[in-house]
Amino acid sequence: MRINPSHAVRMSKYFLPVLRETPQEAQTLSHRYMLRAGMIRQASAGIYSWLPLGFRVLKKIEQIVREEQDRAGAQELLMPTIQPSEIWKKSGRYEDYGKEMLRVKDRHNREMLYGPTNEELITEIFGNDLRSYRDVPKILYHIQWKFRDEVRPRYGVMRGREFYMKDAYSFDISPEAGRLSYNKMFVSYLRSFARMGLKAIPMKADAGPIGGNLSHEFIILAETGESEVFCHSDYIDLDALKDEAEYDGDLQPIIDRWTKRYAATDEIHDEEKFHREVPVNRRVCARGIEIGHIFFFGTKYSEALGAIVDLADGGEKALEMGSYGIGISRLVGGIIEASHDANGIIWPESVAPFHVGLVNLRQGDGACDKVAESIFSKVASLGSDIIYDDRTERAGAKFATMDLIGVPYQVIIGPKVVERNVIEVKNRKTGKSEEMSHDAFFNLLKA
Ligand code: ATP
Ligand code: MG
Repeated sequence: MRINPSHAVRMSKYFLPVLRETPQEAQTLSHRYMLRAGMIRQASAGIYSWLPLGFRVLKKIEQIVREEQDRAGAQELLMPTIQPSEIWKKSGRYEDYGKEMLRVKDRHNREMLYGPTNEELITEIFGNDLRSYRDVPKILYHIQWKFRDEVRPRYGVMRGREFYMKDAYSFDISPEAGRLSYNKMFVSYLRSFARMGLKAIPMKADAGPIGGNLSHEFIILAETGESEVFCHSDYIDLDALKDEAEYDGDLQPIIDRWTKRYAATDEIHDEEKFHREVPVNRRVCARGIEIGHIFFFGTKYSEALGAIVDLADGGEKALEMGSYGIGISRLVGGIIEASHDANGIIWPESVAPFHVGLVNLRQGDGACDKVAESIFSKVASLGSDIIYDDRTERAGAKFATMDLIGVPYQVIIGPKVVERNVIEVKNRKTGKSEEMSHDAFFNLLKA
């Protein structure tokens, strides 16, 4: 049987530098668990290397976001991290961005910068090849590293200086058409976050320095969140968006359903309105983490950078634009904040670095090794990701590592179960163990 090595990993050979001690520098739980589970290492303040385990999770989150962007009709491209300063001077943001922008000079003394975001560059690219109103609508996105020299980088990857973002940009002929693109992105966000097992609450936001009039932040609730949030409790109980939503249909009812109740962050919170509209027993005041942010801002960049089209009647029109960000690397920490216990991370299956963790309690015992090897290759051949703890360690240490790295299903092999030709399967989330036949487990995985 040929198995794809990326599906099947032996812990004895894997680079998984787990820490027994709690790192002192980490203030939040997700940061501590990411360091302890060997997911990341700090290179300098707010700048991290992603080790194999963390990298797997980052890529799984990225792939969910990509699939949902594609489903909404957005097209992926890739822009560079380093940008020329000229386009930023045209939009006026070269000054406005201040010290958050990392500025560098090349050997010819030209001013360059490490992109904190991409409105200018995408508008220039798209604008250069634009002819007529027939070239729109379009939504373009990329998934790329950004750099913002944050005053206070903290909470590990949640507020880094270098971080990984999905940013999309919409181009439309009219504000009404722009609203449609905005709604598509809105729905794709609901869908992306639901697939990651998150309850993300859309909250009306301030458009801030980007300018414009329509904006929502997507927030998950967590004690360590940086913003204070106020909302109607019905928001938190809304079912995740079901698969039926079609992008060619009318999305407005979905948007309305998700935004009909009071929900705001501290920046835009209207206390009087909150008290007027939300009954006392439904008021939620909590802390939240912003995982996504969408804006519709009209023609600010299209005018400055010349994304202008000819109209059918001979006139000209600067395109109506929106931009849509998701913090992919922040989500790794955010998901941990939302899903963990005292022993470690509890990954939702969709983003788990491995689906199955195989624990051989008697490494070196012929019968146990044989059964473990057969499960290892069978699971991998089914396309599930498996990590096999084949080290000669104490059982306690093996269990602790599996719990810490948060693998959803733990298969435990020891002399007793091998003798009876069954396996023990522990569910990381419920903590419950169950004995089952090999086939019953493989069927569970297939389902
Ligand atoms: P914040 O208010 O948290 O600084 P922002 O409004 O500056 O966020 P955007 O410019 O809208 O963020 O960026 C889109 C997304 O990128 C955010 O919703 C967030 O998930 C992520 N993000 C922004 N800054 C950082 C950072 N310093 N580290 C990690 N992720 C970030
Ligand atoms: Mg910011």
